[in-house]
Amino acid sequence: MAGRWIDLSQPFYTGMPHSKALQCAPCFEVVYTHAEHGFQATQYTLLTHVGTHVDAPLHFLPGMRAIDEVPLDRVAGVGVLLDIPRPAFGEIGPKDLERGGPVVGPGDIVMIRTGYGAKYGAADDYLDHPHLTDDAATWLADRGVKLVGVDFNSPDKAHALRGPGFRWPVHHILLERNVLIVEHLNLEGVRPGRMEFCCFPLKFRGADGAPARVVARPLEERAPARDPWRSPGRDPGGIVCGWGWWDGWWVLEGGGADEGVPGGEGPAALPSSEPP
Ligand SMILES: [Zn+2]
Repeated sequence: MAGRWIDLSQPFYTGMPHSKALQCAPCFEVVYTHAEHGFQATQYTLLTHVGTHVDAPLHFLPGMRAIDEVPLDRVAGVGVLLDIPRPAFGEIGPKDLERGGPVVGPGDIVMIRTGYGAKYGAADDYLDHPHLTDDAATWLADRGVKLVGVDFNSPDKAHALRGPGFRWPVHHILLERNVLIVEHLNLEGVRPGRMEFCCFPLKFRGADGAPARVVARPLEERAPARDPWRSPGRDPGGIVCGWGWWDGWWVLEGGGADEGVPGGEGPAALPSSEPP
């Protein structure tokens, strides 16, 4: 039995973070008001590649599928959430993907958490994000995954690292092999493991991408009597932290004493989701 749905999307608003490569700033404006018109309606100006969104192959490949032509089963299904913490400009290679959580298999959706989602709208260096190496993109395509999601701006190098003639190689490797891309996820507080994902993009006719509400739910509900993720003292900095059961979902708890899992009920910890 699956757990409850949780939201992996970032909010959209005027002033939301967006790539330095995109000049059009997102804007939301209430143009009909309760006081004047008896109802409220908002007009928005938005590029298709800001906020939590899905890239269609057409984004980089002329003549390939637009977002409204992507079959729904390409953006929904089971997969894995990998935990690969990275600092600004950090690299993610094939070895990191192997060690980040459960084994990645054919047809999987793969969501990669680096911790950068916590900086969305909150830190100046959100756009100094980590990236996948070309080898990592090839590794994912070789395993036959159908979608790769990241909790930052782009799986390619951050804007500040791009030299002259930069051609978004990671986007090309993935999209050319029919692996879709989701960017700007919020994966904070979600436990690595196998889960079910839905990332349905809006049906913009002929568009290169579209915003999406991305949600997930864990596939397992029972936990071992003692969850290894809650072992006190795991944090090398000396702060006791661990995973706790909250509102039907596992969340990362920091600080304070850790008493272990009361009752031992909760989603199962897959052997392959053990921390490295
Ligand atoms: Zn995009």
